[in-house]
Amino acid sequence: MTKYVFVTGGVVSGLGKGITASSLALLLKARGYKVFMQKFDPYFNIDPGTMNPIQHGEVFVTYDGCETDLDLGHYERFIDEELNYTSNITSGKIYSSVIEKERHGDYLGATVQLVPHITNEIKNKVYEAGLTSKADIVITEIGGTVGDIESQAFIETLRQIQYEKGPLETAFVHTTLIPYIVGSNELKTKPTQNSVKDLQNMGIRPNFLVCRTPFETTDTLKEKLSLFCSIPKENIIDCIDAKNIYEVPLNLHKQGIDELILKQFNLPINKANLKNWEDLIERMENLKDEVEIALVGKYVELHDAYLSVVESLRHAGYKYHTKININWVNSESLEKNVNLKEIFKNTKGIIVPGGFGNRGIEGKIKAIKYARENNIPFLGICLGMQLAVIEFARDVCKIEDANSTEFDQLCKNPIIDLMSDQKAIINMGGTLRLGNYNCRIKKNTLAYNDYKTDLIKERHRHRYEFNNKYMDLLEKNGMIFSGINEESNLIEIIELPKHKHFIACQFHPEFKSRPTRPHPLFDSFVKASIDNK
Ligand code: GLN
Repeated sequence: MTKYVFVTGGVVSGLGKGITASSLALLLKARGYKVFMQKFDPYFNIDPGTMNPIQHGEVFVTYDGCETDLDLGHYERFIDEELNYTSNITSGKIYSSVIEKERHGDYLGATVQLVPHITNEIKNKVYEAGLTSKADIVITEIGGTVGDIESQAFIETLRQIQYEKGPLETAFVHTTLIPYIVGSNELKTKPTQNSVKDLQNMGIRPNFLVCRTPFETTDTLKEKLSLFCSIPKENIIDCIDAKNIYEVPLNLHKQGIDELILKQFNLPINKANLKNWEDLIERMENLKDEVEIALVGKYVELHDAYLSVVESLRHAGYKYHTKININWVNSESLEKNVNLKEIFKNTKGIIVPGGFGNRGIEGKIKAIKYARENNIPFLGICLGMQLAVIEFARDVCKIEDANSTEFDQLCKNPIIDLMSDQKAIINMGGTLRLGNYNCRIKKNTLAYNDYKTDLIKERHRHRYEFNNKYMDLLEKNGMIFSGINEESNLIEIIELPKHKHFIACQFHPEFKSRPTRPHPLFDSFVKASIDNK
């Protein structure tokens, strides 16, 4: 029977609730349990696919094509399990489904209400995750902060679940902040007391507190919290600010939270196998070298907009004991008359990740040309691949007006164009080419050398495609189309064999990189950048 752990957050946002949830899942997995993860997002968008990355950060994509919050990326990187549609629940999805059922007549005769209709819908999503994943333990993170108007329906559902299932099947972990007051040199418990009271007012009794704190808290502080919050002292755990998020699981493990949760569930406490993770931390903390990689994008003011890309670079860096220093380059700034040599002075590799819309496009093209002409290792992702092809068509194949119809609908040489099945689509949300598609890889290519196999599956999130009419011409001029989706004839990977390391893909390899297992394309790109000294 599946057990459920719910992770709520109090006091402030940005406490690292997602990292706590992922860490718990990692620890329970390390103790031999099958885990699955889920996130509730209280906003009314169906998914974050239509949100601006500068406001909301990256959109993560699961293998089955669900566009989700970046937290799911953390989950997958920590627990190394593929998540899916059941992992991402938004108010938008819940309400639209209830309204659809109402119109269909499923509640005939009833007045449709928040309780029980909306809460039942949420509850079903929790149990569905348990049933379909067949996990021993499902960990659900509740987005937002306790007390937010928006998340009340979710919290109310948790109250019902706690009442129905009891502490042997449900555990509630409340993450909270213990602020430090400089003047009086004190850690303060009041905000935590208040936020636990908020939860209790809504009928939920948390079983564990995970306290974000700048340094270790004292026994006295825990006793006070225990008394005021009705939580056993040993269930109050410190989550000390970590240099690196990957340290958090080990910090929590030292305080025994995984064991305490299993005890509450009356489940066998198997020995935790954390060898791989400990090796990772050891490597991470002893990086011997550094390399600068330029990330050229238009959302660079919010680094979270490129979270998985940066993580993937770091994962490869850990493998080669090398610290990755990112040179954040705003693509729009390259459109002015700037000195590229100066900007890329210390850069050993250039990456152009995904993006949407016109802004900053010509700047990215300039960066790609610079990488190509100066033999600087290059990795293009999605939009990065499309622009690499446009740059090559313009500069090498002399098709001067080569472009994508995304930026110029009437362009005479649409090297990148809409797929025919995309042309009829009116709705913007959820209609991109999403999730896993096959890619057949040509032998004797960089891609084959990286993947060491000729059939792969990678995750996608795009609407536009390389226009195969131009394939022969580009090939004649030296571009290799090394990866193709045979079912639809769509180009997946391109490369330039004369270049030191120039490769770009239509899919998003960053979603599949893991800290202990860097993605092959990032691995070889980082290696080439390190070797480019
Ligand atoms: N804007 C491009 C498209 O829709 C690229 C998308 C992306 O980079 N994720 O095809």
